[in-house]
Amino acid sequence: MSKLLFRSTNGRSPSVNLREAFLAGQAPDRGLYLPERFPRLTPNEIAEFADLPYRQVAFRVLRKFTDGVIPDDALSAMCDKAYDFGVPLEVIHYGVYLMRLDQGPTASFKDFAAQMMAQMFGRFLQEDGKQVTILTATSGDTGAAVAHAFHKVPGVRVIVLFPIAEVSESQRKLMTTLKDNVRTVAVDGKFDDCQAMVKRAFTDPALDHIHLSSANSINIGRLLPQSVYYFYAASRLAQPGEPMVFSIPSGNFGNMMGAVFAREMGLPVRKIIASVNDNDAFPRYLDSGRYEKISPSRNSVSNAMNVGSPSNLARLVSVYGGEMDETGTIHRQPNLDAMRREIFSSSITDERTRTSLREFWNKYQILLEPHGVVAWQGFLDWCSVEPLGRTPAVIVESANPAKFPEEVEKVVGWAPDVPASMVTGLRLPEDYDRMGADYERFRDYLIAAHA
Ligand SMILES: *Cc1c(COP(=O)(O)O)cnc(C)c1O
Repeated sequence: MSKLLFRSTNGRSPSVNLREAFLAGQAPDRGLYLPERFPRLTPNEIAEFADLPYRQVAFRVLRKFTDGVIPDDALSAMCDKAYDFGVPLEVIHYGVYLMRLDQGPTASFKDFAAQMMAQMFGRFLQEDGKQVTILTATSGDTGAAVAHAFHKVPGVRVIVLFPIAEVSESQRKLMTTLKDNVRTVAVDGKFDDCQAMVKRAFTDPALDHIHLSSANSINIGRLLPQSVYYFYAASRLAQPGEPMVFSIPSGNFGNMMGAVFAREMGLPVRKIIASVNDNDAFPRYLDSGRYEKISPSRNSVSNAMNVGSPSNLARLVSVYGGEMDETGTIHRQPNLDAMRREIFSSSITDERTRTSLREFWNKYQILLEPHGVVAWQGFLDWCSVEPLGRTPAVIVESANPAKFPEEVEKVVGWAPDVPASMVTGLRLPEDYDRMGADYERFRDYLIAAHA
């Protein structure tokens, strides 16, 4: 049997199958799971996606990872349930497209992974008859996507931590208006504080009696579904075998790793552009080879990308043959030349973000929001150093403008329409707990919640 196994980026935990990697979230040695080898899709298999709806593309990509863990008929039904919304591909101008990942229930790309993870958790827990608590730190959109996806899933309790001052009102309401098995905690601190509290809880022996798991992009279950839309776009926009460019607005680098996974699985890619806001630890690293975290992380208008030290860099470094541990320390340098050939990264200030949002609207009559526009501007930056030529390019729009009405209105002068899927959530009463960025208090809170 040659079942696909997942190894830890820290290299000190045994390899496990998808199910175990998924339920654990993080490896015992605090590394992140990566496939030991990437399953491949042939150019023919990819070309066939052109005629399939998204949910079936998802099935055909994901089954490469679920062999022996989830039977095909079950996986196919899970994909049907998870993906009942569209993935619009709009023309910006000839050969350059906008991929809108904002049509899910909470209007950000986080729905793609959260919906599938809820299906997978539901299935695995039913098999085991176990209870699990999903702990999630969010910079705005993960919390909402996870809360919605797991709302009322039997056997699952969800606790979401978010930085009180760094999320928009719509983002907050999309997570605080659910009740039942979902609790939200507003932290007087930054996203990095929330993430640190969650990470500590995972390794705290005082919480051993609580079965904790993670829906953050440290979980491999987040990344696999995020590779699917790159295949979907390529099958529709490129000739079979033709390489593409993807520009991806990046914070914790989970979305961007989805593209790296797709490439490792055989998708022809000319360049992956990781566009960031003022949190520029990655572009600086690409430049200099020296990695320095941004601490504390910097606030910006693209608030879902306020990440000072992206956890998925450990995976990226590992794919390129290096080793970075969970503290961001590099123990072995990856092949930086290869990384620079295949990845471009640019940091976009808030001022450029706002200007670009207005210019994009004026020029193309397409409304972006602060994250998607960072991807657009990063794409322009890359075009100025390497001509695009005839390569098809996809700019990833990661959220709906209606999630950031204050910011969008400031720039273009009017408020974006609210999609029907968001309307109800925004009207329900909110309910959340509040605490400082204090781990001891958070531990007590978790213990009390499980008493
Ligand atoms: C989370 C998020 C991002 C950043 O995605 P990562 O996978 O963390 O890099 C970008 N845009 C929006 C709208 C998000 O919610």
